[in-house]
Amino acid sequence: MVLSNFEENLQKYAKLLVAKGLNVQQDDWVKVSIAVDQAPLARLITKEAYDLGAEKVIIEWSDDEITKQHYTHQPEEVLINIPKYKIEESEDHVLNHRVCRLTILSNDPGLLNEVDPSKVAAFQKVAGKAFKAQRVATQNDDLKWTVAAAAGSGWASHVFPDLNTSEEQVDALWDQIFKTCRVYDEDPVKAWDKHKETLKEKAGKLNDYQFDALHYKAPGTDLKLGLPKNHIWMSAESFDPKDVEFIANMPTEEVFTSPDTRRMDGVVRSTKPLSYAGTLIEGIEVHFKDGKIVDISAEKGDETINKLVKDNDGATGLGEVALVPDPSPISQSGITFFETLFDENASNHLAIGASYPTTIQGGKEMNEEELEKHGMNVSDTHVDFMIGSEKMNIDGIKKDGTVVPIFRNGDWAF
Ligand code: ZN
Ligand code: ZN
Repeated sequence: MVLSNFEENLQKYAKLLVAKGLNVQQDDWVKVSIAVDQAPLARLITKEAYDLGAEKVIIEWSDDEITKQHYTHQPEEVLINIPKYKIEESEDHVLNHRVCRLTILSNDPGLLNEVDPSKVAAFQKVAGKAFKAQRVATQNDDLKWTVAAAAGSGWASHVFPDLNTSEEQVDALWDQIFKTCRVYDEDPVKAWDKHKETLKEKAGKLNDYQFDALHYKAPGTDLKLGLPKNHIWMSAESFDPKDVEFIANMPTEEVFTSPDTRRMDGVVRSTKPLSYAGTLIEGIEVHFKDGKIVDISAEKGDETINKLVKDNDGATGLGEVALVPDPSPISQSGITFFETLFDENASNHLAIGASYPTTIQGGKEMNEEELEKHGMNVSDTHVDFMIGSEKMNIDGIKKDGTVVPIFRNGDWAF
């Protein structure tokens, strides 16, 4: 590591994730998913969490190389056999302890490129169902959760292929993580409070408009998306059932809500690569008709994206529309991170799959049937893909037909 003050910044980062991201309170249980090569960060996170009064910290370790070997060598029926005690453990953490979940992403986005896509899809599907309680609680904000990143060497080699050594690549990626998470600020927690307010202001304006639909136009894109009645545009901050604030994504630059999944028509093209299930997917084109994806293709990763849509319940619908101005710092860095947490924050995006019930009034109290009745999409999956560019215009259409520009040339029009 040649990055200056790395230890000090890693310490500040751990503190930011625990104190601002998860906002750990007295007696919280904290579960951290992290790779073994990020053990120094895991130790700092554990310490910070106990310092804030956490009752128990649970670390779930993973390792890219071993994961790949499992996928390569295990027969499919073994790979997808998730033991009952694993599911029960997860349910205990979620239902009995409202465990706070911190997910540290660092894996190689192309890790499973050579693995049979149907095996990967089969596992994703089974895991989606097995850990449904955890997923639903997370999407509902019934527990506090934060997704953040650490610079893994495999990942860094994809982002910075032109740097000579692995050490330089990892340093460059840490530098970006620290920058985009405002760790270099003297007081990162304060910097986040300010950032949060800016995003909240845009969300507030959109909430006041209560548009009936959005119209996207860009090269290759001409898409109309309805918005549900009483939809809520959200930004960085979320709240658990006790009204304790947390930040779900670090970094985050987006303002988002759910589309009315019954009213989607037109075509949209992706503008950045998507790393999904260990595979890189590029040049996605999606055709919608009468509220359904009727055709999806990709120049790269076509089989994987088709499997995503065809093999998962509810994956012909969309669950998220998110606005991110092209001048956002992540977009301006010009770097493709091959990791949705970062790339989605460089660009307007949509998500195939489940809506967040928090994006409609009363949604947290609705069952699946009621959510669907309000135009929300119910699904076992949620995968963002990026559609924004400096050429994108978006109009808001009010119920009476009035058109209000929201985005012009990739930036806010108000
Ligand atoms: Zn998003
Ligand atoms: Zn999303």
